[in-house]
Amino acid sequence: MNAAPITQDLLTIPRKLPDAARQNIVGLTREQLREALIEAGTPERQARMRVGQIWQWVYYWGQRDFARMTNLAKDYRALLAEKFEISLPEIVTRQVSADGTRKYLLRIAGGHEVETVYIPEENRGTLCISSQVGCTLTCSFCHTGTQKLVRNLTAGEIVGQVMVARDDLGEWPEPGQPKDETRLVSNVVLMGMGEPLYNFDNVRDAMKVVMDGEGISLSRRRITLSTSGIVPEIARTAEEIGCLLAVSFHATDDATRDRLVPINRKWNIEALLDALRDYPRLSNSERITFEYVMLDGVNDSDEDARRLVRLIRGIPAKINLIPFNEWPGAPYRRSSWERIEAFADIVHKAGYASPIRTPRGEDIMAACGQLKSATERGRKSRAEIAAETGA
Ligand code: SAH
Ligand code: SF4
Repeated sequence: MNAAPITQDLLTIPRKLPDAARQNIVGLTREQLREALIEAGTPERQARMRVGQIWQWVYYWGQRDFARMTNLAKDYRALLAEKFEISLPEIVTRQVSADGTRKYLLRIAGGHEVETVYIPEENRGTLCISSQVGCTLTCSFCHTGTQKLVRNLTAGEIVGQVMVARDDLGEWPEPGQPKDETRLVSNVVLMGMGEPLYNFDNVRDAMKVVMDGEGISLSRRRITLSTSGIVPEIARTAEEIGCLLAVSFHATDDATRDRLVPINRKWNIEALLDALRDYPRLSNSERITFEYVMLDGVNDSDEDARRLVRLIRGIPAKINLIPFNEWPGAPYRRSSWERIEAFADIVHKAGYASPIRTPRGEDIMAACGQLKSATERGRKSRAEIAAETGA
């Protein structure tokens, strides 16, 4: 574990809580927004234009205040303010790692908490977002999978994570300033808490908002959805979202994968590979990323590497090797560096890119599969404090 300094801000300024009487605009698709505007009294023939105007304010300029939407009539702005709000998840804590990784703990409706991680790299910035509070699946190496509480995030809460990060990074354009083409949040990965394909509709709607060319405008090739292998939803992902796909493969025989990724008992390796074979054509994208967590003595042998390349033959692929990120009480150990390199070498020689993912933000427990721990530890320590003080 890295002993480098950590900065942690506890943001104590209370933000306005969402008003139940007002509908949140964030996360509505264009069609949903149009219907909502008509419902609120916008004449039908104007609705499409109003959607376009509001959309640009919210998603291009990052404006939160209807009163400042100066191309709308004053009365109309007042009507919007009465019926709608533009609200985002609230930042509870923000931790900044020695390597620049930022981890946000966000509070959403109902007092639930989710984590979002920003990873700056030389030529891009990746935002890792969550799709659920916790996860209903129970992959044995994943800390999120041990969290009991689960609910699906709304589309607004998913889009909201991207907007919170852009706020915090100061990434909205400045009116009157030349357009800055460098992107701080240039990529989004659905690799935080939760199984995105068990929250398909909200994830799809949120990604439609994020991809919309008159707003945040992230290309579908800069969005990667990671799934543990929810086979029936894979073709839909290609057709209805069209983003890049990553799959948590992690094992090369069904017995091992049953243990690591228990959803394999429902859709086994063969069923998964069949669905993956069609993905590049259906989504008109190049390669699928196979994620493979390196667990000492479990799935990391030369034989595993050779079986892996045999299994995926014919699928345009990249193999992303993830050194296991350990968490307190985890039942596995990270493979040795030499083992990971030997594995990577076999995969590479078979003609596949096999990057080894550098763990980021380890000092703040921000790495893959660790999202939960800080939150839970935080809770525990608050409880402990309460116990100690007799409160
Ligand atoms: N539920 C989705 C997306 C979230 S997990 C999925 O499983 O794909 C994102 C990635 O992190 C997955 O590949 C997951 O298997 C991996 N992961 C989970 N726990 C990990 C850990 N402790 N160390 C390394 N990778 C882990
Ligand atoms: Fe859920 Fe993904 Fe973790 Fe498995 S690896 S428990 S699917 S978040």
